[in-house]
This record gives sequence, structure tokens and C-alpha cells, in this order.
Amino acid sequence: MKQQIYWHTTIKMPDDSNLTPIPEKVDVAIIGGGYTGLSAARTLARRGVKVVVLEAETIGWGASSRNGGMTLTGLKVPMQTIIKKYGREMARELFQCSLDSVDTVEQIVKEESIDCGFSRTGHLLAANKPRHYEALKDEMDFMAKEFNHKVHLVPPSEMKSEIGSDVYHGALVDDVSAGLNPAQFVAGLAGAAQKTGAMLCARARVNRLRRGENRFVLETDRGTLSAESVFVATSGYTGNVTKKLQRKIIPIGSFIIATERLSDELAHELSPKNRMIFDYKHYLNYFRLWDNRLIFGGRAAFFPETANTIKRSAEILRREMISVYLQLKDVKVDYAWGGTLDFAFDQMTHVGELDGVHYSLGYAGHGVAMGTHLGKTVAEAMLNGNIKEHPFARFDFPKAPLGLYDGRPWFLPFAGMWHKILDWVE
Ligand SMILES: Cc1cc2nc3c(=O)[nH]c(=O)nc-3n(C[C@H](O)[C@H](O)[C@H](O)COP(=O)(O)OP(=O)(O)OC[C@H]3O[C@@H](n4cnc5c(N)ncnc54)[C@H](O)[C@@H]3O)c2cc1C
Repeated sequence: MKQQIYWHTTIKMPDDSNLTPIPEKVDVAIIGGGYTGLSAARTLARRGVKVVVLEAETIGWGASSRNGGMTLTGLKVPMQTIIKKYGREMARELFQCSLDSVDTVEQIVKEESIDCGFSRTGHLLAANKPRHYEALKDEMDFMAKEFNHKVHLVPPSEMKSEIGSDVYHGALVDDVSAGLNPAQFVAGLAGAAQKTGAMLCARARVNRLRRGENRFVLETDRGTLSAESVFVATSGYTGNVTKKLQRKIIPIGSFIIATERLSDELAHELSPKNRMIFDYKHYLNYFRLWDNRLIFGGRAAFFPETANTIKRSAEILRREMISVYLQLKDVKVDYAWGGTLDFAFDQMTHVGELDGVHYSLGYAGHGVAMGTHLGKTVAEAMLNGNIKEHPFARFDFPKAPLGLYDGRPWFLPFAGMWHKILDWVE
């Protein structure tokens, strides 16, 4: 097994062989070269704005080229909770945003002819316990009544039509969700942004951001520049350059293994409809096929990726995979890798302006579609000066309770344990 991001073997990722020089002066500087930053850059450059993306590593290096490629409807927080917390009208706007986000990805893929296998194969939410299935029945009625959104149930007796496993107790399917190859998508998005005139600067970590007289000054590894506006798109890699934002974001590791290529028959047996599959647990597993490999991910360790956490997670994930698909017990795992997710303390996504700097953060594992869409819509709001009206800007972006967090997540082992306990009792 190689500790390598499998997706990177399917495309030539942008590298640092031909570095774009750091410009002296731009209209907008974007920090972070993933879906959020690149989608924003494409939108701004298309409107004639002089825009630069400053990326610490190489373009697409972060979660955007490492994820499961699940391009999903909905938010991390259940819509029932969102209605209770923010009211019906706001919940409808937020849910609509999630549907729009899948459309945005589809539209960009089409307009820019990005070859990334985008396909509306739908997602399958599988019940780990009989009572989860009862909850899914309520969820189906609720989504139809409140959001006029049709999802359908798969009863336990019909699960074979969806998945080659009998460990689940039924499922819920949403046909609007899609899947894609995340690295191919981010590389295509980078090409599209560049083609429209955005400057993409790799190896340009921003080390300091300060407000000059009427412009921002950004000091990077490769030089200093000034910008009228700044957009922070650093997701789970948000650091102390934007300290106030860092204190609102918890970086959480997520890990994936990819099996060797399976026969057509076996791949078809595992997932006959090629769905994006995830389960109902707090410590959830998510999996899907790509090119006859099973791509199997989970929050196996809560800490961000290191050689050690990847190795440990790969062992846990392999066990989890076999517990779902016993038929894979002799199958080789070819690749294992990890990446970092960004969670806000309320598990919601947040956009807005803080000390004059725009941001879009807190995707909680839903950033393929949301990052792309919010990158675009926050960029539009920057141009129109109406960020406060954005649906994801209209509620509070909380800090840690009692201010007990300075950006180093000391509580992750406890959070991991807490999730395991919840899975046991719920
Ligand atoms: C293993 C894994 C599986 C996932 N699966 C899914 C999935 O199936 N579906 C889904 O919707 N989401 C999934 N996600 C989440 C999704 O990948 C992210 O939400 C999304 O990629 C975030 O995009 P982004 O552009 O905001 O951030 P990223 O792609 O993480 O990019 C942020 C970039 O900011 C750069 N940066 C940080 N600080 C600085 C600085 N000071 N100067 C310059 N650059 C800086 C980093 O180097 C990084 O490249 C997954 C994530 C992981 C890790």
C-alpha cells in the first residue's frame, strides 16, 4: 500500500515548475488555491477584476484534490435542526443554496469542458440500525413537506438493488446529488480561472496580512503585494495569519483508502447504481466507486494527516470496509491518504466580512459543491458590496464556548470518544 493520494495518479496536478511571479498590486487577493479560491478567482476575472490566488503549496494541494468527490445536496446539520434554529424561511434559502451548489458545479464543468466524470448518480444514506431507518422515513416526509424536495426510501428487503452488503437496515436516496473525480475537477477549475485571466501563485504562503492606509498588504514567501480586497479561502488549513478566523475553525482529519481495481462484476455487485454512499453514524464511513476501485473514507482518526495517522487510519478503514463488504477481505488496498476538513463550532458554513476581509469557511465535509458555489457567490457579493445579504452571512459565526480555543484543537480525542459513545447509544 502506498501513502499517496490516488486521485493524483489520474491527472497531472498543477505543480511548481513554472511559478507565476507575485504581482505588486491587485484588486483582489485570494488566500488558498482550492475550490473556494479558484471558483472565486474565475468569477472575478470574468468580470475584469485583477485577481491573484496565493497558495502556500501547489494549486489544489489541500482538501480539494483529496476528498471523496461526493457532490451533495443538503448541509452537515440536519434540515430539521436548521428550521428549529433559524426558522422556516431561512432554512428554505439555505437548502436552496445547497441545490444551487450542485448546479454550479455542473454548470462550470460544462462551460469549461472539465473532464472529471461529473455524473448525477445520487447519494445513498444507509441506516446502521432499524431505528435509523424509521428516522429516514420521517426525513423523507419532512423534505417533501418543507422543501418540496423528493427523496425516496429503499426498504431493507430491497437493499441488494443498491449495495452488495446486508449490514444496513434500509436507506434513503437523493437522486440530485452527484459524483466526480475531485483532483480532475480542481485541476480543471484552476485551468479555467487562469484562462479567464486570474493569476495563480503557488509556493506563496501568506505569512502576514495587515491593513495599510486604504489597501491590504500581504507578505508572502515570495514577496509582498497590496490588494484592495482580500478573500480568505483556507478551509481546514486556516492558520494564524487570520487569527480571528482560525479560532472559529476546528481542523479535523479525514482519511481514505482506495482498493486495487476490481472486476466489472464485483464493482457492480458493490454498488450497482454507482451511488455516493455514506452511513448514519457520527463516526461515519463514506464510499463510492471510481474506475472499478472502491474509494472508502471515514473519520478514522480525528487528527489531521501525518504518516502516522494515515497508517493507523488505513488499518481502521480496511477493517471498516470489510465489515461492510466481506467479499473484499482478500482485496489489496493500493493507496491511503488523508486531508483536513474545516468545522465551525456550530457545524454550519459561514461567509462574511471580518475586519474588512471576506471569507467562506466551515464546509464540514460538504465543500465540493458548497466551496465551488460559495466561492462564486461571495465573489459576486464582493463586487456588489452586499455580503451581509448572503444567506450564509445572516447568522452568527460562533467562537469556542468560554473562549477555550486558540486554534490548537486539544479536545479532538474527547470529541472522537464522544462520537463513538453517541454511535453506541443512538
Ligand atoms: C479526506 C476528505 C474527504 C472529503 N470528502 C468530501 C466529499 O466527498 N464531499 C464533499 O463535499 N466534501 C468533502 N471533503 C471536504 C472538501 O474537500 C472541502 O470542504 C473542500 O475541498 C474545501 O475547499 P477549499 O478550497 O475551501 O479548501 P482547500 O481545498 O482545503 O484549500 C485551502 C488551501 O489554503 C491553503 N492555505 C492555507 N493557509 C494559507 C496561507 N497562509 N497562505 C496561502 N495558502 C494557504 C492550503 O495550502 C490549501 O491548499 C473531504 C475532505 C477530506 C479531507
